[in-house]
Amino acid sequence: MGMIRADQIEDGVVAVTFRTEDDAPFVIGEGVVEQLEELLQELVANKDLRGVLFRSEVPGVFCAGADVDAMAALESPAEAEVMIRRGQDLFERIAHLPQVTVALVDGVCVGGGLELALACDARLATEDPKTQLGLPETKLGILPAWGGSTRLPRLIGLGAAIPLVTAGKTVNARKARRLGLVDDVVASQQLVPVALDLIEERGRGGHGRRPRKGMIQRFLDHTPPGRALTQRFARKAILKQTKGRFPAPMAALEVMASSVTAPTSDSLESERQEVLKLLQTSAHENLLRLFRLTRDGNRPPVYGAGRDTEGPRELAVIGGGTMGAGIAALAVGKGLGVRLIDPQPDALAAGLRRVENELKRRVRRGDMSKAEAHLHRTRFTVSTKIDGLRSMDCVIEAAPERMELKHDILTQVVAETSDRTMIATNTSSLSVDELADATGVPGRFLGLHFFNPPGLMPLLEIVRGAKTSDHTLARGLAAAKALGKTPIVVGDGPGFLVNRLLAPYFLEACRICDGGVDRESVDASIRAFGLPMGPFRLMDEVGLDVIVDAGRHAATRDGNPFELHPSIEQRVEKGHLGKKSGRGFYTYGKRRPSRRNAAADPDLSARLVGRMVTEAQAILAEGLVLCPEDVDIGTVFGIGFPPEKGGLLHWAEESS
Ligand code: NAD
Repeated sequence: MGMIRADQIEDGVVAVTFRTEDDAPFVIGEGVVEQLEELLQELVANKDLRGVLFRSEVPGVFCAGADVDAMAALESPAEAEVMIRRGQDLFERIAHLPQVTVALVDGVCVGGGLELALACDARLATEDPKTQLGLPETKLGILPAWGGSTRLPRLIGLGAAIPLVTAGKTVNARKARRLGLVDDVVASQQLVPVALDLIEERGRGGHGRRPRKGMIQRFLDHTPPGRALTQRFARKAILKQTKGRFPAPMAALEVMASSVTAPTSDSLESERQEVLKLLQTSAHENLLRLFRLTRDGNRPPVYGAGRDTEGPRELAVIGGGTMGAGIAALAVGKGLGVRLIDPQPDALAAGLRRVENELKRRVRRGDMSKAEAHLHRTRFTVSTKIDGLRSMDCVIEAAPERMELKHDILTQVVAETSDRTMIATNTSSLSVDELADATGVPGRFLGLHFFNPPGLMPLLEIVRGAKTSDHTLARGLAAAKALGKTPIVVGDGPGFLVNRLLAPYFLEACRICDGGVDRESVDASIRAFGLPMGPFRLMDEVGLDVIVDAGRHAATRDGNPFELHPSIEQRVEKGHLGKKSGRGFYTYGKRRPSRRNAAADPDLSARLVGRMVTEAQAILAEGLVLCPEDVDIGTVFGIGFPPEKGGLLHWAEESS
């Protein structure tokens, strides 16, 4: 639980410090609210005080927002209203403290944490990459309702506040400074001295420096026609993003737009009314459930083991193609020492470029400084031979999908590594057990199945072989964490979870077309359901040759669920491999693929998604996934199943 300590750090200045046991993230639950309420009573009464600082001693976290477990436990709208009103009142009292209040943000500051900071007179933030500020409530299907939707647009202008809230993204300190969200960016040890100067200055009636807005910005933020224009564009952008499937971003926009001119009490009232409606939507329930599932141990105990295990620091990737180079770039960006091995110098040169681009991207986004990027670059090495692996915590094989080749590579890897190295394969369709046996060390072998592109796709399937040790599995989970991936543990069945679900879905899509429906209508129906693309477009993206290969590999295994439709094989024979060859089910080129404006048909999406549901139930019955929740996570983060529907099996259950 969060704890609060107040210390007088200088004559007339109190620092309120957030703490937790075991350095767990500090969140605002009922206990914290009570402590703050009591503290505020004392502060208001203290006539000798000039300033109050809010800071945190939890490493990397200022405040991670409201306690979502408490949110999930709310039993009625009346209970929710009490909680919201209490938070609003608390932050109103902070906003009206007679002293100068400053939030010292050194770490994550999101949701209710940023709303608290917004209630202060000023905010200082550190340049540390962990310092990220944002209001991600719409990602949970609600809106900032502890004063955030009211205070943010007033502070930084409606135009800047809208994307921050409706997309729920976080910004680093420098961007926050540009937006006017924080008053200054300083080094961690400078927070208190700069805050003391600020208290001095504000005490004398100064207001500090705010970034100057340009003429257009002033028009858009401060005139009724400008705001109407901003709102109109924002509505369009939100509709494009949500396709009207979930209401939170639009509701947040309307509250923010009205807050700019309304009195604070009216604006807080409208925050309350709107959030109460959103709290009762299934979209909120489903998003909150997924958030909690991916965050903590609401899943089988094996996931807990990963939390207590150290992640890899030194990693080697064998094979520097599409996947290997992507995994290497991801790992370098996360600060791991990485060795990339490929017999082709061209592949290594391309891998190097990918690593460079990743580091540049991270510097641009403010995730790391140039000096840190330089340091990470020095920890990246390449080789055309399988060597230099003694110090590796983990080796990931990502060579072409051929059993004998992988056998050969893995035998060399075992000879070059020590007993403590975890060895993984990124195979999509070969048997992990067969590969494990070839290594002779199956206990420390497992599958780490990344999706393409590894830097962007959030899911990691961790394939537990029959002989993978518990410790290796825990290390695999720790590796997922170190690489910022959402893991699910799957068994060694053909296609694991995601590809196994896709195979019959693709087949069903082709069969629908055999029945006379055009593929544009099939794709449009799936998009209308909420997936990012339809099955034909997805097959073109994956590569029809890859699908045929996977089907052929699966055919060599027991219980093959992969039946290939002849239209896929015929295209491959003609060299129409999908997007990469310019032609697959669609034609690609300078002009966009011929895409007619097809009508969506809910019966088609029900049939296609229904086919995946049947397959998922079979996978579950075969024990290849640990629980239905893992199917939900796998489909949301691996296929882009609409999160507001809660994942494949949750949706099936709710809609049956
Ligand atoms: P790729 O053909 O793009 O890259 C393979 C790389 O391995 C090439 O650079 C090649 O030079 C190198 N290589 C060849 N022989 C080697 C050897 N003896 N030692 C080391 N490297 C060698 O292939 P890819 O798409 O990156 O796939 C790699 C693995 O990842 C496969 O097992 C595949 O099933 C799996 N996978 C692919 C995808 C995908 O979408 N491409 C997704 C998930 C998993």
